[in-house]
Amino acid sequence: MSRVYNFSAGPSMLPLEVLERAQKEMLDCNGSGQSVMEMSHRSKEYQAIIDDAEALLREIMNIPDNYKVLFLQGGASTQFAMIPLNLGNKNKKADYVITGQWAKKAFAEGKRYLEAHDIASSADKTFSYLPKVDKSMLTPGADFVHITYNNTIYGTHFNTMPDFGDAVVVSDMSSCILSEEVDVSKFGLIYAGAQKNMGPAGVTVVIVREDLIGNAMEFTPTMLNYETHASNGSMFNTPPTYAIYICKLVFEWIKNMGGIPVMHEKNVKKAKVLYDFLDQSSMFKGTVVPEDRSLMNVPFVTDSDELNAKFIAEAKAKGFVNLKGHRTVGGMRASIYNAMPLEGVEALVAFMKEFEANNK
Ligand code: PMP
Repeated sequence: MSRVYNFSAGPSMLPLEVLERAQKEMLDCNGSGQSVMEMSHRSKEYQAIIDDAEALLREIMNIPDNYKVLFLQGGASTQFAMIPLNLGNKNKKADYVITGQWAKKAFAEGKRYLEAHDIASSADKTFSYLPKVDKSMLTPGADFVHITYNNTIYGTHFNTMPDFGDAVVVSDMSSCILSEEVDVSKFGLIYAGAQKNMGPAGVTVVIVREDLIGNAMEFTPTMLNYETHASNGSMFNTPPTYAIYICKLVFEWIKNMGGIPVMHEKNVKKAKVLYDFLDQSSMFKGTVVPEDRSLMNVPFVTDSDELNAKFIAEAKAKGFVNLKGHRTVGGMRASIYNAMPLEGVEALVAFMKEFEANNK
């Protein structure tokens, strides 16, 4: 078996232990005589799996009891609509901090349903930093303020949580959930597509404070109403059963590793190896201001498109795959989520050093 080091932004690497466990349970999960894929979602076997997934997530993220955990479909992108539809019905006003493509998409969708304000943006410098934001910038009466905690494409991350006072803060954590400790009680709603740090594509986790559920706009489709899913244990309809099962295995893996604080420590160490190299290289440069750097997504460039292309091709031949930057920004990006081992980052840096020496 030869597995590559996969630096994809998502779907991305899963822990080998998780894949092996899934392989072992593929034909007969837990003595049930069937694959999880074949189980009725109404069976007691499957109920135990989704219950475990929720309990484990609550445990590792320390989610307070007054929050619901929902396993939904439609990707993080569907949340761009569900959030204004469900949380914006009081004053039909909301604030958005524009820090990249995903924030822009959330804002554009918000505008369809309410008065959406872009209270700050870092578009002036290609989203290579995070704008300073605080409660003084919020629109009076806004129902919520939306931030993208980690910007997957540009590699920025809110290393200090902005002080929004008692505003309802909604956070897209698609590319950083489970990578660092988060005080859930500071947020009204946290959402994340699974396909980076949690599991395969197909399930989106929403963690939402209970008092924010039950006041959706009247025309909200049943399937886009949090109430529908909250009052049916994420089983109003058939949930993405296998994806939730893999998430459960990943949550267990994190717990067994020592939990999120240990994950975070490892992530700091991994990212440091790469950033330290970038900071002293005469060929490769990180594109983000140091104080806003992400531990998960590390974009970098050389000063020529040809050299970038050569690097990506040679890296691929050596088993370092998916290093091409997002199609809208070019250059390179190494996504180093929880499942990427330190050795993967060290091997990449060793290859970058070699490439630099050979292409002077
Ligand atoms: N938000 C962020 C921060 C993302 O990185 C992505 C996907 N890469 C999305 C939203 C969209 O997620 P999905 O494809 O699950 O709709």
